[in-house]
Amino acid sequence: MKYRNRVRSRISNLKDPKNPGLRQNVLSGGIPPGLIAKMTAEEMASDELKELRNAMTQEAIREHQMAKTGGTTTDLFQCGKCKKKNCTYNQVQTRSADEPMTTFVLCNECGNRWKVCIAFSFHLVLELLKPAFLLFLCNWAKKLLQARNATNCGSRCSD
Ligand SMILES: [Zn+2]
Repeated sequence: MKYRNRVRSRISNLKDPKNPGLRQNVLSGGIPPGLIAKMTAEEMASDELKELRNAMTQEAIREHQMAKTGGTTTDLFQCGKCKKKNCTYNQVQTRSADEPMTTFVLCNECGNRWKVCIAFSFHLVLELLKPAFLLFLCNWAKKLLQARNATNCGSRCSD
């Protein structure tokens, strides 16, 4: 019975349309028949699935690190489960430096965890400040021009 299940899992993996890599490797001899008989479901999985598993492991590691380092306590986030605002957040840079930061939030009341993208990141603060800063520059330039016009007029009027 157990042996039959093993054979079945091998056949279903070889037939899997999402996993052409495995079939190709077996047909080309890259994976000898002796090896495929011993392979685990994880080893037979498609590259796509393997990548997904890797990503999930990475995320789990990050969340674990967050739990360890503690993060910052805040009342800016509200927990979706218990509706309380006693949370801890931690920012993690994902993949490349120019991508928005991912903020991991942990509810200190019920242990609920969720992710917030962009929010609270340094990038967002910059984005928010940009229009205000531009407006300030614009007003400053206007004042400067007005002041210059005034002096021009003043000098012209005194002629
Ligand atoms: Zn909660």
